[in-house]
Amino acid sequence: MHFRSNQVIYALIRIYFGVLQMQEKPETTPIKRMADLLRQGATLTDLSCPVCASPLFRLKDGTLWCAKDEKKVIVLKDGEEPPKPSAGTAYDKLETILLTKVQDIQNKIEQTQDVDELQKLTVALSELLNSLEKIQKMKKA
Ligand SMILES: [Zn+2]
Repeated sequence: MHFRSNQVIYALIRIYFGVLQMQEKPETTPIKRMADLLRQGATLTDLSCPVCASPLFRLKDGTLWCAKDEKKVIVLKDGEEPPKPSAGTAYDKLETILLTKVQDIQNKIEQTQDVDELQKLTVALSELLNSLEKIQKMKKA
């Protein structure tokens, strides 16, 4: 998974976090943890977690971190693909699809000069992130 601009993702997460606050959900969600990591200077990598397939963060000290599992991830060789998640559930697959769509929308947001389109894209993104959050909750249940 390649995220071309961490800043755009950060902006999008902030939009989503704003939505969360409006809904008064105090619990820590993976999305919020990701936003916190970015704020602390972590960067989003193009690696994915071997356990949950979430995009991994590189912390300031170089540690690879999964914000969803809240675990350190060790990659044996630099540039090596992490092992594919074994026996992915239907939720995992759905989540991956939605993350891909989030990336698509992110690319469109980067390219658009049209305010109306930007608004539509932002709404779509917000709904996608909502869906992602629901899936993450269902996976926990
Ligand atoms: Zn993970």
